[in-house]
Amino acid sequence: RRIGYAVVGLGHLSLEEIIPALFSCKKSKLVALVSGTPEKMKKVAAQYGIKSQNCYSYQTYDQLKNNKEVDVIYIVLPNGMHKEYVIRGAKAGKHILCEKPMANTSEECRGMIDACKKAAVKLMVAYRIQYQPHNRKLREMVQKREFGAPKFIEASNCQSSANPDHWRHKIKLAGGGALPDIGLYCLNTTRFVLGEEPAEVFAYQYSTPGNPLFTEVEEMVSWQMRFPSGVVANCSTHYNVHESRHYRVLCERGWLNMDKAYAYKGQQLTGAKADGKLELQQNIGLAEKNQFATEMDYFSDCIISNKMPLTPGEEGLQDHILMEAIYQSAKEGKPVKLQDGVIVAKGT
Ligand code: NAD
Repeated sequence: RRIGYAVVGLGHLSLEEIIPALFSCKKSKLVALVSGTPEKMKKVAAQYGIKSQNCYSYQTYDQLKNNKEVDVIYIVLPNGMHKEYVIRGAKAGKHILCEKPMANTSEECRGMIDACKKAAVKLMVAYRIQYQPHNRKLREMVQKREFGAPKFIEASNCQSSANPDHWRHKIKLAGGGALPDIGLYCLNTTRFVLGEEPAEVFAYQYSTPGNPLFTEVEEMVSWQMRFPSGVVANCSTHYNVHESRHYRVLCERGWLNMDKAYAYKGQQLTGAKADGKLELQQNIGLAEKNQFATEMDYFSDCIISNKMPLTPGEEGLQDHILMEAIYQSAKEGKPVKLQDGVIVAKGT
């Protein structure tokens, strides 16, 4: 059977990626919409054949409880609204797929995880890179030590933004600036590739004085993570740099590079393996898949076969704990240690 999805929030990501992708899914289908703009919802519903009784406002959202066609609620709202809509969705007895970043704070994440546990529904954070073939292939090569042990990771995710009135520039709705929005990809993908958690972070943060884009949220963060195995990751994110999304894993006997690493498509994986004195560079070609369809079908499969998703709420919580440590380090100007996912000596 196909799992029925209600998509909440009809912004860019929903309209341009998620809703069209639902029509190329094998295990998932669009059955309901939730929006605060009735005119827009009417048009989208007509375009995709959604019944008017399956169209909800934020006020009637809780009535999804009575709609048997809906199995999953997919939260695609500004970050600061995720917590409320995840908890209300769980109380309606529906499984939840929540966009990244999971929330504004680790405390909010804990509340969301608890609510989903209490309601016995599944919660997955939409970390699409963990389901993307090129990134999965790179991870596998690193895990199998095909190029020897990894030693350094360099990861960067930058873009430029122009509208200071957008919710991404308001702290209440965004939770932060470049770090939770796009820097998160460097953080989450590095953890995914290495399969270990950082023991220490050290960060630098900057916003150009007087730039109205950055009165509430930060422009850039540059940070290091030290892992127990000795690997060090150098990561950077910026809201005022031409689009650039890549990472490179430097290993004992070669390197792996991912260009367009966090893009919706067009990942380019290359590697160079030093074999004696010979360096072999090769393109590692893999077929592309629609990342959003892959991710939703994966979650549907977790529901059908009652499996814990690879990126549950706890995965989102861990990133928030680390982002809080990164902000703390930037503020204090010194490294912050972590032990078992907990910041050691917070606020010293
Ligand atoms: P967007 O601004 O295009 O859409 C947000 C939607 O929320 C709009 O339809 C808007 O009307 C609605 N909304 C409801 N209340 C609002 C309020 N008080 N203020 C502003 N908007 C309000 O944003 P988006 O780019 O679609 O992002 C939505 C979520 O998806 C965010 O959490 C974002 O981080 C995430 N996202 C993820 C990816 C990914 O690749 N996984 C890509 C882009 C965005």
